[in-house]
Amino acid sequence: VPPVIDEKLDDVYAEVLRRNPGESEFHQAVNEVLDSLGPSIAKHPQFARRKIIQRICEPERQIIFRVPWEDDAGEVHINRGFRVEFNSALGPYKGGLRFHPSVNLGIVKFLGFEQIFKNALTGLPIGGAKGGSDFDPKGRSNREIMRFCQSFMTELYRHLGEYTDVPAGDIGVGGREIGWMFGQYKRITNRWESGVLTGKGTEWGGSLVRTEATGYGTVFFLQEMLAARGTELAGRTCLVSGSGNVAIYAIEKLVEEGARVVACSDSGGVIHDPDGIDLDLLKQIKEVERARISVYADRRPSATFTEAGNIWEIPCDVALPCATQNELTGRDAEKLIANGCIAVAEGANMPTMPEGVRAFQDAGVSFGPGKAANAGGVATSALEMQQNASRDSWTFEYTEDRLRMIMKGIHTSCYETAKEYGQPGNYVIGANIAGFERVARAMVALGLI
Ligand code: GLU
Repeated sequence: VPPVIDEKLDDVYAEVLRRNPGESEFHQAVNEVLDSLGPSIAKHPQFARRKIIQRICEPERQIIFRVPWEDDAGEVHINRGFRVEFNSALGPYKGGLRFHPSVNLGIVKFLGFEQIFKNALTGLPIGGAKGGSDFDPKGRSNREIMRFCQSFMTELYRHLGEYTDVPAGDIGVGGREIGWMFGQYKRITNRWESGVLTGKGTEWGGSLVRTEATGYGTVFFLQEMLAARGTELAGRTCLVSGSGNVAIYAIEKLVEEGARVVACSDSGGVIHDPDGIDLDLLKQIKEVERARISVYADRRPSATFTEAGNIWEIPCDVALPCATQNELTGRDAEKLIANGCIAVAEGANMPTMPEGVRAFQDAGVSFGPGKAANAGGVATSALEMQQNASRDSWTFEYTEDRLRMIMKGIHTSCYETAKEYGQPGNYVIGANIAGFERVARAMVALGLI
């Protein structure tokens, strides 16, 4: 294994800190990736010579815009919209839109940065981007959310296109919001350009399996990790944090594969259901009623709801953080390890704090970082783009098979890359280096971009 040239990467990191003050989540994401790349840079001197890492850390383009809208009472509100087009060496910018009050430039940059490597790992032709707004959909009427989506797209449309930048959903943006934004894009441009957004409804250009893809893909990746350590998922007790789109379909696939899911959560608290989460009830509450998860316990005698509880204190074999960034601390990791947890697959983006990642790795827990484990969502978005480009639509079975193959492929490339660099079983190093090298090779080939 070549020596790590830490000093050079330390300089790169110092420059990122200097240029992007106060963006702590972005710093954290960059730090974690740079921490892995020393051996790759040592092995490929042209990457250092061409300043590939320095270029990757600087977004190609950052768009910040005003989003004015009117609520049902006629009051005017002003939110801030973002799109960070981070890297297009491998394909058009691709990544979701997040509507959540916590959204700011640093959060969007952390997500966009992660997206570069995640999208590269899929092996599909997609660059990395992320966007969103600090708009809070919670408590807003359908009409208010629609007006917000229309206003947001009225500015964003000029930056998009099937060959340019292709957003999808993320936290706070699902099929309904994609519909309203697609309608506005179509109206402004007078183009029925299906490839401009993914996560569309299946009757108007969407792909089957896209809704389920992030959760399903995380479970497929988990199964590969368990197989690599000579064991399997069936019969395992699992915790899935969150109760949004990723969590719901992770639970669905876990149960289908014979595991038992005993807990899930939302920002209000934790549901513990030792009999196993009732998925139909969970879907009814979250997808139909759009209600808080606390009502689950009112309708299910075996379940308890703990307000502001900590899901990671419940004993399990496998943990899937599927809520949001930095939701699993070092102390939570210690608790999970003490309770016998053997594998963690991240359905959310960067849910585990750095101390937690280290604790899992030191304890020999199989740890699948989000940029590998949750890549099934964006991979299926790329499959949606393929169907749009060929004016075709594939069956559920065929699309799910493709997703399963892609997740297997991602696992193999992380696993083999970690081994190649003398760190067997370290999926963090494997994912960071495998994703980085694909982007780096393209950037070298394309000249000084
Ligand atoms: N927001 C999802 C992610 O983090 C999906 C992005 C997409 O499909 O473009 O990967």
